[in-house]
Amino acid sequence: MKKVKKYTILAVDDAKDSLLLLEHDLQEAGYQVITCESGDEALSILQENHISLVLLDMHMPGISGLVTLQAMKAQLDLARIPVIMLSASGDEEQIVASLEFGADDYVTKPYIPNVLLARMRNSLRLMEKTRQLESLALTDFLTKVNNRGNFQSLVQKIISQAKRDKYIVSMAMFDLDYFKQVNDNYGHEIGDKALISFARILKDTFRDYDIIGRVGGEEFAVCLPNTHIEEVYNACERCRKSLEAHVLYFDYEELMRLADHGLYKAKKNGRNQTVIEGSFGMDEAEFGGEKQDMRNMDEKYAGINYHIGLNNVLGDEGLFEDILVMFYQDHGDDHTHIQKAIEEHDQRKLKHLVHTIKGVSCSIGAMNLFDMCKAFDIAVNEDKTEQYQALFAPLKDELIKVTSGIKVHLSEKV
Ligand code: GH3
Ligand code: MG
Ligand code: MG
Repeated sequence: MKKVKKYTILAVDDAKDSLLLLEHDLQEAGYQVITCESGDEALSILQENHISLVLLDMHMPGISGLVTLQAMKAQLDLARIPVIMLSASGDEEQIVASLEFGADDYVTKPYIPNVLLARMRNSLRLMEKTRQLESLALTDFLTKVNNRGNFQSLVQKIISQAKRDKYIVSMAMFDLDYFKQVNDNYGHEIGDKALISFARILKDTFRDYDIIGRVGGEEFAVCLPNTHIEEVYNACERCRKSLEAHVLYFDYEELMRLADHGLYKAKKNGRNQTVIEGSFGMDEAEFGGEKQDMRNMDEKYAGINYHIGLNNVLGDEGLFEDILVMFYQDHGDDHTHIQKAIEEHDQRKLKHLVHTIKGVSCSIGAMNLFDMCKAFDIAVNEDKTEQYQALFAPLKDELIKVTSGIKVHLSEKV
């Protein structure tokens, strides 16, 4: 065999000797071959097999090659299979007709094997290219899941099927939290990488027949046919948890770019200083032992890395102050609410409270508070009551530290 058996060719000819010869030459070239002796047979084989290309004799008893070709082109799922007509010389009219009906090419009999094989390769290549182009129009270029348009048409098909066959259809939607900050802190390329990773998580979590689409910049939707809502919920939770646990590794260029950006800032801010770049949301272990000192190096407000917080609002100090005031007003009492939720074993409320502070603390640059909320959040999700009860006191202290710091500086606004 000269080639991997990738393509299956259907050869249709009523002359048994030609057919044997064809079969031999094609197999020799590495193709998988199915043969038959009439148009009717060909059409039924096409229904049941995955055929890459058809070699179709023009003259056959029963339905002719031309009529077989027309029948193929009239069926949506067969119309795109390339067809090469096998004709006798002097068949000009028929050849023109077959090309008009959508045949890709023709070869006159007796054929020259190399010529036939070259034409087949061309047709197959063209088909591959067409498929690629079609798939480009249907998938999102970045994450390779369905784009919004294709997602919509696939889901509409599912809904019609579901109506007919009487099953339920569920829809889940995902939006990445604080995604703007990922871009702001790490750059757009890392943002792209995060989107690709999340799409991978979706593909790994959901089943092949669930439909995944990118429906907005950092928004994805998944349509699940015939799935009970509890299963949908569990699958979504699995996605959320794997994203939370996902570590995005930087490669050399990305690390250098971030470090270089930090260096540029250090120069710009007056030289003779160390600047942290892209430390957003890092774990303690990743940050190293001197984290505490380094993180709070440029603390203006207690417990807040001013630099990170300000960076998140693109350096707009007035806006940052407003956001800090809002944080003070909205979350200043949260430790009492958390305590109450713990006492009342109100898991939902607890989750909601901690999840919210986690997100907001990250955006204002309160990185220690963020880390504590993150650990707390994980403990709540895993139902580790003792663990989150133990985490409560330090979390409360840190929250009070942050809100008091805001009050000291912005007392006239809060
Ligand atoms: P929230 O937690 O409320 O969802 O806030 P958010 O920052 O995630 O949401 P917002 O809608 O404010 O911002 C979405 C961001 O997603 C802004 C946009 O720059 C970014 N984004 C959209 N498409 C892409 C993309 O293809 N690549 C990258 N890197 N970023 C993208
Ligand atoms: Mg959004
Ligand atoms: Mg978002």
